[in-house]
Amino acid sequence: MRKGILFIISGPSGSGKGTLVNRILKRISKLSLSISATTRTPRPGEVNGREYFFISDEEFDDLIATDGLLEWALVHNRFRYGTPSGNVYAALNAGNDVLLEIDVQGKEQIKLKIPEAVSIFIDPPSFAELEKRLLQRGSESKQDIQRRLCTARLELEHKDEFDHILVNDDLEVATEALCNLIMSYR
Ligand code: ADP
Ligand code: 5GP
Repeated sequence: MRKGILFIISGPSGSGKGTLVNRILKRISKLSLSISATTRTPRPGEVNGREYFFISDEEFDDLIATDGLLEWALVHNRFRYGTPSGNVYAALNAGNDVLLEIDVQGKEQIKLKIPEAVSIFIDPPSFAELEKRLLQRGSESKQDIQRRLCTARLELEHKDEFDHILVNDDLEVATEALCNLIMSYR
């Protein structure tokens, strides 16, 4: 049986990673999303084990100490996020392709460990549009949005290091392009 392919999806907060990932998971079979662990608290509507495994700082320390994370990073200078390795390897060994929705620091760590992983940067059409999307989403405070925009500027500087850059302007066009990209690796 062929082993699955690992796809890394990164890009600034608000560029549309979550939206695109949800759409392609409905369209492509044998594709799964890795659920990360995080020390941030759940937002209203988020469920433990669905969006993230919401864990304490001590539990996160334990995961690092027991080599349970494929990568991890402090994101937006605030909370730690990491990819639990067990589920990823199990899915890949079962022949499923796996999506990691992680930040640029995490992508760099994965590429060192698994060079054949395919990295895709979800690029907003402009910085103004990114700001608009974050404001419209309304899931963070003004201060948190500013923090995310600061991180975004740094992340955008790294986009040329990715295997692919996908501009998420028209949602349907971007969804189709991401589906086609993944299918082309199969
Ligand atoms: P991320 O996961 O990268 O932080 P989201 O998927 O949450 O971003 O998208 C941020 C906001 O922008 C959401 O409100 C989403 O509905 C909206 N959005 C995503 N893609 C597009 C698009 N192509 N055009 C307009 N709005 C979009
Ligand atoms: P949010 O708090 O909005 O859910 O996520 C903030 C950022 O954390 C996102 O941009 C996302 O890419 C990143 N992130 C989520 N999970 C992981 C992970 O497991 N590892 C790393 N390095 N970043 C992650």
